[in-house]
Amino acid sequence: MSRTNLKALSDEALVDLMAELGEPAFRARQLVHWMYERAAVSVEEITEFSKELRKKLSRRAYIGAIELSGRVSSEDGTEKFLYTLKDGLSVECVLIPDNDRMTLCVSSQVGCAMGCRFCKTGSMGFLRNLEAYEMVDQLLAVSGLMAPRQITNIVFMGMGEPLKNLEELSEALRKITGLIGMSPRRITVSTCGIAPEIHRLSQKAPGVNLAVSLNASSDRVRDSIMPVNRRYPLEELMQACRSFPLQKGRRITFEYVLLEGVNDSIADAHKLVGLLSGLSAKVNLIPFNPYEGAEFDPPSEETVLAFQDYLVEAGIKTFIRKSKGGDAMAACGQLWCREPARDKD
Ligand code: SF4
Repeated sequence: MSRTNLKALSDEALVDLMAELGEPAFRARQLVHWMYERAAVSVEEITEFSKELRKKLSRRAYIGAIELSGRVSSEDGTEKFLYTLKDGLSVECVLIPDNDRMTLCVSSQVGCAMGCRFCKTGSMGFLRNLEAYEMVDQLLAVSGLMAPRQITNIVFMGMGEPLKNLEELSEALRKITGLIGMSPRRITVSTCGIAPEIHRLSQKAPGVNLAVSLNASSDRVRDSIMPVNRRYPLEELMQACRSFPLQKGRRITFEYVLLEGVNDSIADAHKLVGLLSGLSAKVNLIPFNPYEGAEFDPPSEETVLAFQDYLVEAGIKTFIRKSKGGDAMAACGQLWCREPARDKD
């Protein structure tokens, strides 16, 4: 009989499994505690269980874990980790240190179906959704490598569109906040603009931060670089953002990759001001980070600064984010990880 991965089982299924082994329900809770709070990677580590129970359980099941298959460090301190999943596919996550912060950029899918033209991940197509435990495992695995330093923040900005995998994402967030104990305020979910799911995210994972990969301020330009905009145009997307519940002092982050001659004019900035009017928002400007075969270029520094100045003068908090990890191919649009959205004013 093939053994079951305990992390892939729901709470109810774990209780059922324990009952089949003649054990009470609280053993399932102990198991969950060991898997997520103590990051056990084998049943043998669960010393709270008798030897006999560990043996019985090991015959039926095991604690699955993603397997580190590559690790690349960038000169700026960013590290990219490549993990192999149970079916042999690979997923990447990126650790971004920034003073007292250690932000982990987590993937939610293998590949991505959204096809944003400036994104390297988008060009590889979609392979499959990650299961909740595979998202949590990225945190557990990198935490284990970094100990005793702690990961302080998580951004779902890695491979994939998190809101296209909302059920598993919600379960992962439940475990990360409820079991591992990270505050939702330290977690950001980024979307390319799946408008109807933005509302569902706020219901399923209250308190997490929202980031929107905007990248254009008109439907004409956005249609041309982000196919999702033809399905959920700007008006619908901005309406969803306006309905997103924000706690006091919180803002929605709008990511804006600047592409030379495409979306970087003062007229684009002017439209962006109009789009964000009345919203509690901040903007991260990210000069495009080229990769081999990319069809865009970054604008000049002068253009980037002029764009920022226009937004700042209009009263919008605006930051220029240099893509981190460029030399490790762990930067923006190569995996789609941005420097953490931290106010530096
Ligand atoms: S930018 Fe994000 S949503 Fe768009 S293709 Fe890349 S990973 Fe997918």
